[in-house]
Amino acid sequence: LAAHGVSVRAEPGPVAYLDPGAAVEDRVADLLGRMSLDDKIGQMAQPERRYITLEEVTRYRIGSVLSGGGSAPTPNTPEQWADMYDGFQRAALAAPLRVPLMYGVDAVHGHNTVVGATIFPHNIGLGATRSPALVREIGAATAREMAATGMDWNFAPCVCVARDDRWGRTYESFGEVPELPSAMTSIIDGLQGEDLGGSASVLATAKHFVGDGGTEGGADRGDARIPERELREVHLPPFRAAVERGVGSVMVSYSSWNGLKMHGNRYLITDVLKGELGFTGFVVSDYDGINEIDGRPGFTKEEVVAAVNAGIDMVMVPTEWRRFIDHLRDAVKDGSVPMSRIDDANRRILTKKFELGLFERPLADRRHLGTVGGDAHRELARRAVARSQVLLKNDGVLPLDADDKIFVAGGAAHDVGVQSGGWTITWQGRPGPITPGTTILEGIRGAAGSVDYDAEGKGIDDSYDAAVAVVGEKPYAEHHGDLTGDMGLDAGDLKTIERLRAAGVPVIVVLVSGRPLDVAAELPGWDALLAAWLPGTEGAGVADVLFGDVEPTGRLPVTWMRDADQQPINRGDGKTPLFPFGYGLGYD
Ligand code: BGC
Repeated sequence: LAAHGVSVRAEPGPVAYLDPGAAVEDRVADLLGRMSLDDKIGQMAQPERRYITLEEVTRYRIGSVLSGGGSAPTPNTPEQWADMYDGFQRAALAAPLRVPLMYGVDAVHGHNTVVGATIFPHNIGLGATRSPALVREIGAATAREMAATGMDWNFAPCVCVARDDRWGRTYESFGEVPELPSAMTSIIDGLQGEDLGGSASVLATAKHFVGDGGTEGGADRGDARIPERELREVHLPPFRAAVERGVGSVMVSYSSWNGLKMHGNRYLITDVLKGELGFTGFVVSDYDGINEIDGRPGFTKEEVVAAVNAGIDMVMVPTEWRRFIDHLRDAVKDGSVPMSRIDDANRRILTKKFELGLFERPLADRRHLGTVGGDAHRELARRAVARSQVLLKNDGVLPLDADDKIFVAGGAAHDVGVQSGGWTITWQGRPGPITPGTTILEGIRGAAGSVDYDAEGKGIDDSYDAAVAVVGEKPYAEHHGDLTGDMGLDAGDLKTIERLRAAGVPVIVVLVSGRPLDVAAELPGWDALLAAWLPGTEGAGVADVLFGDVEPTGRLPVTWMRDADQQPINRGDGKTPLFPFGYGLGYD
């Protein structure tokens, strides 16, 4: 610590918890023995960095801070993140016991809040690759980019099983059957590394426990009204897989199970997750999630008691962290939360801090800065994009030829923000050149000699060999993406495609979307359909498949509806879809 400019108080005799050679268990026990109730309660609090000062981090012995989706520093560079991290870490280390904090971020498709980072495809595209090995590599790359900025805790992967495409978080799912997200927990191995102590190793989080993808109507933060058997057979297996891989933390879901908020569900969190599944890491609540337990506004002591006694160890309490600390202190003093529960939570949290090596290497490892958005990671992302493409229809127009004369249109053709979707730079994401990357149009230009472009498809004529319409969804995240009725393309996209068709050239539709859209009525008029999902910054990977440099091998990770009334079609109850789960064409 002294080497990092942190003053080390003279202690009488050896301090066991500061001895890197001692066993983690002994270090934890030694440290716990030195902690006051206030020290312990502070460890369990995770305010958002915007709502706490450095001085308060020290004073309240805060265990963790986070940057929620929209909470990037300004300017938003990797160096700025590293500086910010170090500032918070130094504040934590300035408290008498010098316990380092963990800094949590949502690096859900690369280190996606940082301008210049490599943005990988969202999980639904990774599910289409069917490649746990590739996904593991992506985890390792993400961890390197995170480590460069100091970030040591990732709120990923989401291992939800999306059963209803109306859900605004469908794209955070690797797929509709438990086997897919379970297999893709390989990303945890990449994020955490061989052991947590590696220099580019971050703590992973399996989320959201449990049943978030199984709510009625696909409502975000909704109610999963399903029998325990279905909860266990469909939604629990990915968590079992994550626990078997040694995932460091698990985040509780905002959703309810048969009317009971998950944040207060002691049976599932303590008996099932920690007991039956043998999870030894720590459980974190979702953003302000414990505030929703009683369904009323206002943060009460009863909610704190219910959450902590249910088994939540770390409370993500962005703004009301002072109140949380007061409530929990009162609850321990009047016996409504047993001291043994506080000790258990601290033991779990501190164990991960020691395993991460934070006591020895608390500050950002700037040696990794060069990897942020570097060529090697972008090359990996491009490969992942190509492998995530699912070819759904091809009348023979694909693959395109490098000598073809091609016309490109569509609002998603030349837009890094749109092709990256939500959770990119900001929580909701947004259209525009929000971070460096290659658009799909640029990818096509890189592959063909003659390419013309107009977003609305104006000016096309019949001199083209083919027209490519890149259309689909605009960025959204969480409940902002919930759909209730129509799931089709918007009028502008349909008009663009019509213009291309009217020119009498073959029309290839590339769909940029976080989920299947309702395209059955228009499909007969299209010559090819490629599901590109939300590819991220490396749009050239889409072109790689369009031009046949990479064979299309992606397979549907979710069932593709024939019309929106078929939702929830991913539960597979005998409806005839447009394309079944697992569908995908090749060129051979
Ligand atoms: C989301 C989580 C996320 C958290 C922190 C919540 O709104 O549900 O998935 O990890 O915010 O940003």
